[in-house]
Amino acid sequence: MPTLEIRDLHVAVEDKEILRGVDLTVRSGETHALMGPNGSGKSTLAYAIAGHPKYTVTSGTVTLDGEDVLSLSVDERARAGLFLAMQYPVEVPGVSVSNFLRSAVTAVRGEAPKLRLFTKELKEGMDALSIDASFAQRNLNEGFSGGEKKRHEILQLELLKPKIAVLDETDSGLDVDALRVVSEGVNRFRSTGETGVLLITHYTRILRYVKPDFVHVFAGGRIVEEGGPELADKLEAEGYERYTKASA
Ligand code: ADP
Ligand code: MG
Ligand code: MG
Repeated sequence: MPTLEIRDLHVAVEDKEILRGVDLTVRSGETHALMGPNGSGKSTLAYAIAGHPKYTVTSGTVTLDGEDVLSLSVDERARAGLFLAMQYPVEVPGVSVSNFLRSAVTAVRGEAPKLRLFTKELKEGMDALSIDASFAQRNLNEGFSGGEKKRHEILQLELLKPKIAVLDETDSGLDVDALRVVSEGVNRFRSTGETGVLLITHYTRILRYVKPDFVHVFAGGRIVEEGGPELADKLEAEGYERYTKASA
């Protein structure tokens, strides 16, 4: 069973320690919500797992099925079955969505999909997410609205079928309709039971559509409380103040 294991992870950005000992295990078939106030280090965790060069792991381990993730290149991480959707995806002028997705699929599967099959797969994925056909020819991330960025993330999930997906603020900037489409996409993706999801979010609203099995509260660069879905309800009612006071 695919398992992402994070052990006592410490991460620094420009010599400042941001993550201070994170322990978290995500198995396939599980959905974990990581929730916390702004600036608590949630995105730093996602970037560190993704291998962003600005985020230095100073100690601790990250493994996927026992394999050391931290020693892998960004591409190798994707090939190993990790998917990381970033809060601020980069624009790539001159590369269309369709080309980007076909390269990503090729990298992950180890061979290029037949163009006709890929086109069909892409169309089905886009239809399921109510994405207009013209989207495939647009330049990657250029001028994407919040909703388009998030739909594109979920489209990648459907095509790449990772073992473990880390979704950072997938719900931010979405109106109610887009939130529903994106949530349905995440639910479709996890309904196979073969993939694990780490859903990073500041707000509880997406958790009304995507029910987590576990909720972790993040404050001051570490997990400060853990529980089941009821913990999200408590956060919705009480906010994060209690935790920010404790970790300040
Ligand atoms: P969250 O996602 O929970 O809002 P972040 O991980 O974005 O939190 O930020 C945590 C802390 O790390 C903040 O104090 C932020 O200023 C700092 N930080 C994160 N990324 C960078 C960066 N690239 N350069 C400088 N500081 C950063
Ligand atoms: Mg420690
Ligand atoms: Mg963030």
